[in-house]
Amino acid sequence: MEVYEKYGLNKVINASGKMTILGVSKVRPSVFEAQQIGGENFFEMSDLLEKTGDYLAKLLKSESATITSSASAGIALSVAALIGQGDEYHLYHPYTDRMTKRDIIMPKGHNVNYGTGVDVMVEQGGGKVIEAGFANECTPKQIEIEITEKTAALLYIKSHHTVQKSMLSIEEMVAIAKKYDLPLIIDAAAEEDLFKYIEAGADLVVYSGGKAIEGPSSGLVVGKKEYIRWIQLQNKGLGRSMKVGKDNILGLVAAIESYLSDGSESGDSMKERLAPFVSQLNKINGLTSQVVQDPAGRDIFRAEIKIDHKEKTALEVVKDLKVGPLAIYTRDYQANNGKIEFDIRQVTTDEMNEIVKKLMIILGED
Ligand SMILES: *Cc1c(COP(=O)(O)O)cnc(C)c1O
Repeated sequence: MEVYEKYGLNKVINASGKMTILGVSKVRPSVFEAQQIGGENFFEMSDLLEKTGDYLAKLLKSESATITSSASAGIALSVAALIGQGDEYHLYHPYTDRMTKRDIIMPKGHNVNYGTGVDVMVEQGGGKVIEAGFANECTPKQIEIEITEKTAALLYIKSHHTVQKSMLSIEEMVAIAKKYDLPLIIDAAAEEDLFKYIEAGADLVVYSGGKAIEGPSSGLVVGKKEYIRWIQLQNKGLGRSMKVGKDNILGLVAAIESYLSDGSESGDSMKERLAPFVSQLNKINGLTSQVVQDPAGRDIFRAEIKIDHKEKTALEVVKDLKVGPLAIYTRDYQANNGKIEFDIRQVTTDEMNEIVKKLMIILGED
């Protein structure tokens, strides 16, 4: 492919699993096709944004939804929306002191750096971060004592980045929001469950398009109809600098559709795709191959090869596979025991054929 030649890069087949150093995951063909349709056509953009949002809301069993340029934009726009509440003066003067409710209360241990600080995004939306509790503790009471007539919303970050110990639960945060009649935003950027937090009673839930959903660079906010309308209104104000393109709007919808229908690939599907690969591998002299399950017992199956070759050890094969211009990355934890595994979750049939070809060359069978 041209891009590899243009920049002098190795083409990579990722048979090692979901590895950030290789680019985590690739978008599915359905996503790419949707992006192309987006790129090649015109739309009435506000209509496109509203109607894709309505469509996603139905899929996600939420009152309403809207696509954003990222989860970060989702946080900033949610904050701006809940401060402005549809007010036109606020729209054109987002940081005006005419709006007196700007406080966004969150547990101190949730104000983390995920690449940027959560507080940076809250402030971009015009919010003032009020950290409740301590770095290592936040009780419901500690949230409640921060609530004043200046409070605009509560914010809860559901993430492995946050302090996990001694933090109030989502259910407890929901109960406080209900008790004081305040909106609750949950940042669930990297979470896998697209239903759970709305069901739990959050008013707005923010997701990243490029993480669990494996979509293009984008974000998603689901929640209450009126709040989502206020977020969309922000596109005529500070949301303009966070514009999301038509290609990624359509791409994210396609990614969510396939994420919901296929989820992550099932073990049965992996076994089915592995069968022809393993039988091709077994035709190569100097190795034997079989399907093995993930040692931790997860629903993941891989092709294992055991190297028994007069010249090459498994460690040498692993090294040779990584040599460009076609660099093949494997799971090599057991290579010193003569075994190499291929994780095919990010590998196509064509790429499996390329792996077989390269192994034949390495083992001198061309
Ligand atoms: C990744 C992440 C974000 C930001 O997501 P983007 O779509 O990259 O903006 C926000 N919050 C948390 C907790 C994250 O992990």
